[in-house]
Amino acid sequence: MTDPTTAVLAEIDAMRDDILQTLSDVVRVPSISPKYPGLDADDVLGGESRANQVLVPSYKAAGCVVDMWAEEPGRDNLVGVVKGSGGGRSLIFNGHIDTVPPGDPATWKWGDPWSGRIENGKLYGLGSTDMKAGIVAMVKAAEALRRTGVSLQGDFILESVVGEESMDHERGTTATIRRGYTADAAIVTEPTAFSGPPALAPCSAGVFWLRIVVPGKATHVMVRGNLIWPGGAGDRYGVNAIDKGFYVYEAMKKLEADWGMSRNHPLFPAGHFNIGVNLLSGYPPGPPVPFIVPHECVFDYVIIYRPNDDADAIKAEIEEYLNRVYDLDPWLREHRPAATWMHQWPAYDTPVDHPVCSTLAASHQTALSREAFWEGFPAVDDATWLERGGIPSISYGPGNVMDAHTVDESIDCQQVIDACKVYAAMAMNWCGVG
Ligand SMILES: [Zn+2]
Repeated sequence: MTDPTTAVLAEIDAMRDDILQTLSDVVRVPSISPKYPGLDADDVLGGESRANQVLVPSYKAAGCVVDMWAEEPGRDNLVGVVKGSGGGRSLIFNGHIDTVPPGDPATWKWGDPWSGRIENGKLYGLGSTDMKAGIVAMVKAAEALRRTGVSLQGDFILESVVGEESMDHERGTTATIRRGYTADAAIVTEPTAFSGPPALAPCSAGVFWLRIVVPGKATHVMVRGNLIWPGGAGDRYGVNAIDKGFYVYEAMKKLEADWGMSRNHPLFPAGHFNIGVNLLSGYPPGPPVPFIVPHECVFDYVIIYRPNDDADAIKAEIEEYLNRVYDLDPWLREHRPAATWMHQWPAYDTPVDHPVCSTLAASHQTALSREAFWEGFPAVDDATWLERGGIPSISYGPGNVMDAHTVDESIDCQQVIDACKVYAAMAMNWCGVG
């Protein structure tokens, strides 16, 4: 008699066409996050529900009790529970069904962002890598277990949630926790191929969005000589907010360079933790014409910090640094820029020696006959909210993040099958067979 693991892995190979067909079916249903900035929500609302609906037959084939509900109309989450026989550890697999917008559809292969077509071993379409492949792999792993007659001791929970791309975890992953779905561990099936094959990502970066508004003093442009040269009237006449803004910009670049030299982490490439300005505007009062000295300059920064950094300490460090910078400038000393912390997506950080990490590494070895390796998740994902819900979490899934949010997004078909095998082996090793 073949052992159950060998039988399940063979079953997944036999299911290859079915797995890729299901992925293609889900990719062909647009599921753009309705709260994504710059969109008219009504144009895309309901896509998340429709895509999750396509997955329901696969959930049923896996033996799940299916729970589909929406925190907001048209935005259904899909959770399935395969009840364990008892005595084992429970496990959540979590992925998001929503995607970013496609940009100009005409620029995509075949003029279609939702083709779901396979060419040269890659399946194309918006959301293929990020992250319908991960969702299909986890659901098909559960189906493969059922088809081979393997029953688990611990509960096996499959979550396909909405809203991740618009940071709307309250409607998605956090809503699943509030609804009572919890487990001894969770795997987020986001794409984790960063520099080679998919890595095990036990931690992520943390992210802040910081807005700095630098004040100036508007006056007629023809007096600029008075504002900038010795002997002039100086700030009695006016202050160019853009000039002052670039003083702040240079100072922040200096801090970023210091971080680049000092902020390292063994699971991230050098320089990953940084302070980048990504939006900038400076303007005079009234209509946008350049004949009045600007009175305001606004910088929007994204600050990427280490998983083990204390987020409040990062905020305090930056605010103290900026205050010292302002103290050195006669105008800013008296007219201090306003700093607003617009948004934060905290990091998650599960120790590499936590049982969920070591069991996943062992399952990877069993399923693929090659050693797993570790890398930090360079962006952020829903593991943060699972961890905050008390569930130790790790990310591991098919696809390269570099292929996400780009025209001609695609997924390597073999990576989908491989991930499916690792998930099935993980479910057996973690939840227990019996
Ligand atoms: Zn994603």
